[in-house]
Amino acid sequence: MLPIFSYPEEQSDFQRHLSRSVTFEPEVQRVVQDILSDVAQRGDVALLDYTEKFQGIRPEAFMVSQEEIEQAYLAADRAFVVVLEEAYDNITGFHRHEIDKSFFYEAGNRVILGQRVTPIERVMLYVPGGKAAYPSSLLMNVAPAQVAGVKEIFITTPCDDNGNVSEHVLVAAKVAGIDTIYKFGGAQAVAAFAYGTESVPKVDKITGPGNKYVALAKKEVFGHVSIDSIAGPSEVVVIADRHADPEFVVLDMFAQAEHDPDAAAVCITDSAELAEAVRLLALEKVDTMVRSEVIRKALTANGAVVVVRDMAEACEVSNMLAPEHLELHVRNSWEILSDLKHAGAIFMGDYSCETIGDYYAGPNHTLPTNGTARFFSPLSVRDFVKYSSIISYSAQELARTGERIAAFADHEGLQAHAEAVRARLRKL
Ligand code: NAD
Repeated sequence: MLPIFSYPEEQSDFQRHLSRSVTFEPEVQRVVQDILSDVAQRGDVALLDYTEKFQGIRPEAFMVSQEEIEQAYLAADRAFVVVLEEAYDNITGFHRHEIDKSFFYEAGNRVILGQRVTPIERVMLYVPGGKAAYPSSLLMNVAPAQVAGVKEIFITTPCDDNGNVSEHVLVAAKVAGIDTIYKFGGAQAVAAFAYGTESVPKVDKITGPGNKYVALAKKEVFGHVSIDSIAGPSEVVVIADRHADPEFVVLDMFAQAEHDPDAAAVCITDSAELAEAVRLLALEKVDTMVRSEVIRKALTANGAVVVVRDMAEACEVSNMLAPEHLELHVRNSWEILSDLKHAGAIFMGDYSCETIGDYYAGPNHTLPTNGTARFFSPLSVRDFVKYSSIISYSAQELARTGERIAAFADHEGLQAHAEAVRARLRKL
């Protein structure tokens, strides 16, 4: 578990060790495609059939009732409600900074050009619910959609075999002011909202994390609806110098590893002593963790400590990995920030652990995984709006430039394009 590599000497060894495949197995593809086409054809009946197959029940109601939401809220531990409220305020507050404004400008000769930003109208936010409940994912998806001004927000999450939805998710929904919660999960839920059924509305966009069936279903329905991204297994990179606390490093790596045997956790350090301390402490602590089996599997398959010669090399290795989460346990984290080019979220200094970002600080926890931080960004308000260009041309400007524009169209051989301009020129 947690082998130590030297960089650059053993670069190819650790890259091979850390290469994770995100391709979907053919069997999963077949299953998902069957579910999608079945729900597209048979609507509600197929949705209920698959729910019976995977959740073990045919729920009587498609949606959670107001009463169920109120009951869950009243029965909830008050301290849990308070932390959800604080987290929701922090997440909303952060996302308000992301609002893109429409712009218009006068381009001369009474021409006005611009770009108008309008919210997407209907979205479905998937909250996973197979093996665990994720009230944090509900808040992280709802807040940016609300800040963007989305009018209709639907949540769906799998019910249990009694037809009930996790009370923690219901409490988070109440805190966020959401009362449209459907009881379905998996590829069948994605299909229902992508195509619409008798009882489920077709939406414009689907966001939210889920297991491989959910992720692949989102990929397949892209085009019928928009999606956010296809999030794979989670990962963390910790850059640590000799001042770092090995216990902090190890627990932060465990925090990532406990998600999933496919999760990855890497420590990059310029201190051989710290590397050894981290490895030994991890071996010592792993059996004390409730999810020790998952942590051990993840850190054996996708865990590593990389020893570099200096912080410049540490940044180089981190940039190669382009991690979803990047923690900087170094004396002055702000000094190296500008050298770090690719990461979903960067946690500055010993006291900014990932857990804070997962639940509470405000920035979104839905982040690009598996090296896609090179080109993807965290879930944001921008995922819930669209942009329209505005062109308002004056007759004077058309008189000045029209013939040149028509000639451009002539070069493309598009006669009607050219005539549309020349007809106007003749009237001027
Ligand atoms: P889920 O809601 O994603 O999936 C449960 C559904 O999967 C079931 O309802 C069922 O319909 C379907 N399913 C299960 N087995 C199937 C099979 N054999 N064939 C067809 N469909 C099947 O819940 P989960 O399984 O607990 O997975 C949650 C995932 O979300 C985890 O991988 C977790 O790491 C991830 N997650 C990611 C983030 C993030 O922000 N990146 C946050 C929370 C959770």
